[in-house]
Amino acid sequence: MKGTPPVKRALFEEDHEQFRELATEFNTREVSGKYAQWEKDHQIPREVWQSAGENGLLGLAVPEEFGGMGIDDYRFRVVLDEEFVRAGHLAVALAFHLHDDLVLPYLLAYGSDELKAKWLPRMVDGSTITSCAFTEPGAGSDLRAVRTKAVRDGEDWLLSGQKTFIGNGAFGDAAVVLARTDAESGRATESSFSLFMVERSEGYTNGNPFDKMGLRASDTAELFFDEVRVSDADRIGEVGQGLRYVKEQLPQARLAIAVAAAAIGTASFDQALEHAKNRSTFGQALTQYQNTRFELANLKTESHVTQTFVDQAVLAFNNGELDAHEAAEVKLWASESAKELSDKALQIHGGYGYIMEYPIAQSFTAARLLTIFGGTSEIMRETIGRAL
Ligand SMILES: Cc1cc2nc3c(=O)[nH]c(=O)nc-3n(C[C@H](O)[C@H](O)[C@H](O)COP(=O)(O)OP(=O)(O)OC[C@H]3O[C@@H](n4cnc5c(N)ncnc54)[C@H](O)[C@@H]3O)c2cc1C
Repeated sequence: MKGTPPVKRALFEEDHEQFRELATEFNTREVSGKYAQWEKDHQIPREVWQSAGENGLLGLAVPEEFGGMGIDDYRFRVVLDEEFVRAGHLAVALAFHLHDDLVLPYLLAYGSDELKAKWLPRMVDGSTITSCAFTEPGAGSDLRAVRTKAVRDGEDWLLSGQKTFIGNGAFGDAAVVLARTDAESGRATESSFSLFMVERSEGYTNGNPFDKMGLRASDTAELFFDEVRVSDADRIGEVGQGLRYVKEQLPQARLAIAVAAAAIGTASFDQALEHAKNRSTFGQALTQYQNTRFELANLKTESHVTQTFVDQAVLAFNNGELDAHEAAEVKLWASESAKELSDKALQIHGGYGYIMEYPIAQSFTAARLLTIFGGTSEIMRETIGRAL
């Protein structure tokens, strides 16, 4: 296992540590040694999803009646995320995060039994890879500007529009799509949007994966919908409630990013410490310089503070007590912290830090996304500030 053990934490129990071993074995067996090629291909092979499914690593929260294990303790998702980050397989963490933290909660919370029976078993066994398609070229921070529309056509809907920056978008099989269902009525209101589970079919196409600066093995692409026929049975929840559902699920979406951010901050410290111990200049190890020791001390302390804050939020979430504003605080703090820590840890690496095969370069580029996606830091500050 790479890196030092995380700081002492009261968060986990025996079951979580056993699950950690499973996640570590999966990383070693299925990902290590292959990941660099996936980064070049911009793709995580489908077999890996299926193997993750067989090993019980997908759809953790899915109830047993729909093929899952019904794990509603979020600490298991935390363990999984941490192990992917610790092993340096950051893009796998992102790809599975989209499937489990962004798509799944909508199906579980608002899907009909018919919808759940159709989609959940396929998500659990990894045979269906899913995306969460909200962002559009003209609507990122401001989801009310979404223009993709779904229009009634008999018993079905016809979906048309364009999405961008969609994770698992190039190789995924289905997406939760936020669309306007009152496009004829001019200006959008709170009740103008609905959510649909849209399967790849005629009229559903994608662009090539974007050439991202980091997390390259996870495919991120544009999606195009040209009168895609969507059954009304694939509508998620009530017509007109899409934006409300998105707001209700913000705590998990934000917390998940904070969890990954804390793990990246800790990994950055580990990577800097290892490099500083092994690298000599002017005849002595970098750790002999007071400046390096002070920098490492700062990294260690800040990653500890961040981890403590995130762990507290995980427990609050488990108790149903993490609201969207508190989740914004923890997402803001942890993602900004990961950005800063990975930057400082990279500096300790000198020129090696700029080379992508060094884990710190991967941590740095991954951390850079976290203050942007899932709501930017500015939007987090707006959210927190408005609630004061
Ligand atoms: C690699 C990657 C993966 C992604 N994956 C997904 C995905 O799977 N699904 C999905 O739906 N989306 C995804 N996104 C989209 C992501 O969530 C958006 O990029 C993000 O929400 C910001 O939207 P935007 O890019 O349109 O920026 P904009 O909204 O154009 O913002 C530009 C800048 O203006 C600032 N700004 C905007 N409005 C305000 C305001 N009111 N006050 C102050 N400042 C403001 C922003 O903070 C930002 O700094 C992904 C993005 C990336 C880069």
